[in-house]
Amino acid sequence: MHHTLYPHLFSPIDLGAFRLSNRIIMGSMHTGLEEEPNGFQRMAKYYALRAEGGVQLMVTGGIAPDWFGKLTPHAAKLTNAKEVNQHRIITEAVHQAGGKICMQILHAGRYAYHPWNIAPSRIKAPISPFTPWKMPSWWVNQTINHFARAARLAMDAGYDGVEIMGSEGYLINQFLVSHTNHRNDKWGGTFDQRKQFAIEIVQRVRESITDKQLIIYRLSMSDMVPQASTFDEVKNLANDVERAGANVINTGIGWHEARIPTIAQMVPRAAFTDVTAALKPFLNVPVIATNRINKPEVAEMVLSLGHADMVSMARPFLADPQWVSKAQHNQSKAINTCIACNQACLDHIFNQKVASCLVNPFACKETEMILTPAERIKRIAVVGAGPAGLAAAVTAAERGHRVTLFDRNKQIGGQLLYAKQVSGKEEFEETLRYFDHMLMAKGVDVKLNQDAEVHQLQDFDEVILATGVRPRALDIPGHQDPRVVPYTDVLSGQVQVGKKAIVIGGGGIAVDTTIFLIKGSQPESITDFKQKWGLLAGEQNTAPLRDVVIMMRSDKRPGQSLGKTTAWIHREELKKYKVKVKNKVAYLHIDEQGLHYTQDGETKVEPFDHIVVCAGQLSNTELIVALPKAHVIGGAAKAGELDAKRAIDEGTRLAMNL
Ligand code: SF4
Repeated sequence: MHHTLYPHLFSPIDLGAFRLSNRIIMGSMHTGLEEEPNGFQRMAKYYALRAEGGVQLMVTGGIAPDWFGKLTPHAAKLTNAKEVNQHRIITEAVHQAGGKICMQILHAGRYAYHPWNIAPSRIKAPISPFTPWKMPSWWVNQTINHFARAARLAMDAGYDGVEIMGSEGYLINQFLVSHTNHRNDKWGGTFDQRKQFAIEIVQRVRESITDKQLIIYRLSMSDMVPQASTFDEVKNLANDVERAGANVINTGIGWHEARIPTIAQMVPRAAFTDVTAALKPFLNVPVIATNRINKPEVAEMVLSLGHADMVSMARPFLADPQWVSKAQHNQSKAINTCIACNQACLDHIFNQKVASCLVNPFACKETEMILTPAERIKRIAVVGAGPAGLAAAVTAAERGHRVTLFDRNKQIGGQLLYAKQVSGKEEFEETLRYFDHMLMAKGVDVKLNQDAEVHQLQDFDEVILATGVRPRALDIPGHQDPRVVPYTDVLSGQVQVGKKAIVIGGGGIAVDTTIFLIKGSQPESITDFKQKWGLLAGEQNTAPLRDVVIMMRSDKRPGQSLGKTTAWIHREELKKYKVKVKNKVAYLHIDEQGLHYTQDGETKVEPFDHIVVCAGQLSNTELIVALPKAHVIGGAAKAGELDAKRAIDEGTRLAMNL
């Protein structure tokens, strides 16, 4: 027996229906596999791999209890024997791997993305184009029956229990809050009446399954919408849900329509566990904390503070299926940490694509991307230790190749070194820590501070060029002015920008650089974060470090190219810090007066202390010409909008085929 660094995380717990030997639950997450051909086979492999990695209890993505409750027209439902057979593929695989799995029953209500969506009242959700139909009261009863039927069928399929999705603004939540429930029958009116729908569902589900089968109820502890449930109402509901037969209460934070970040990268770690902690003393059943818990240290802290009995993590298991076993063996630094970027998981789902993971391109591709030992061991040189080169080097070494990695910088990271300087993007540090560990663990020969020379590279069997990009310069008269600098000089700390800055460009890097200029490098504290987003009383600290004007050629909004889950947060933030945006600008020249430009046919001057140029980048191609047989990946192959997701994916896939 070794001594665990995480004694709370790895202590047993009795959930009533069964016991677990750790406090971790892999939370529900829609992957998009639910609707794919062979999706259930693929999900079975995906879940089983996490069970093998030490997850003892997991919850599936949301499954609709009937046709109307589907989130999208093709979403998965569980209503008949044929579907039971599909689900059996999953439960058998997970049980064989030694895990337990609950099925989440999710009725989307007015969030359904199809014209047949239904709700307590005919009030359209701001995030759906469809106005819902009001459910007549017989329909409410029938829907409760359908929850019970789905639970029964889930047990037939071999699940160990169910999670009833009562939060995030879905149907049950829509009944609870008067903002969406204007009914005057027995399902609307006072809170006691609005909560009946939730309570009857739990009761009926309890009657439909045995005591050895688990009910988790996901309860919205902080709605973040108008007329939200008060703390007393949350407490009252939680007590009733417990009495009705739930074994565990899981935490829901924020309806999907809320315009407050709850899981994005700039949300401080474990920022919402205090909400769970407030409820815990009033309950007898275990409670689960969620949101932005990504490392064993964070999970252990939440538990040791007594904020919750268990922690739920969803995205961290996309990033690393071995999370639990690595933590258990005190190998925290070997964990590929979820950086909360949402770029390959939630952003894919919103674009109707199967989820994956930026830091782990194998996620949700478990049946097709399989790492095999190399047939013939080769000597491989990788030039450039940015995300593409790192992924290629580690993957090749994992397959048994002898890999040498060169970088001219004194540390690994490439463009990630710049990104991690931006307040709210500190999580990139974890990706570098992970790669650093893997390079060492897999025996990659790392040569830093070195420009790889062509003659050095000629001895290798394969050469991979991941030499990245350099910033594109601003090409107008006066651009040689020393006050005109590329974003790289600013983010690396080489240039201290004055009080008045112009940012040129409106892509992701321009937004990041602007955030750095207004907020600096320091992560935000939980208190500052909550005050800024109106979740805590107190002064909002939104004084920018500098005055910043973003100037763009196009008429788009800054950060238009960013993912759906985060673009709005950045835009809100730029507004809060009073960043000015000038669109449709044509640059003329630079002199002592400032930057001369035209806009709407008028010639104007913008004074500045510094101009920070974020106007795209160019591939570093010097070695490509000399080494025509080399493989070229990442920014060196395509500069465009920088994209760590593509870089890591390309590096990994190339190395899988060498
Ligand atoms: Fe986490 Fe980003 Fe991977 Fe999603 S894509 S699981 S947020 S690291």
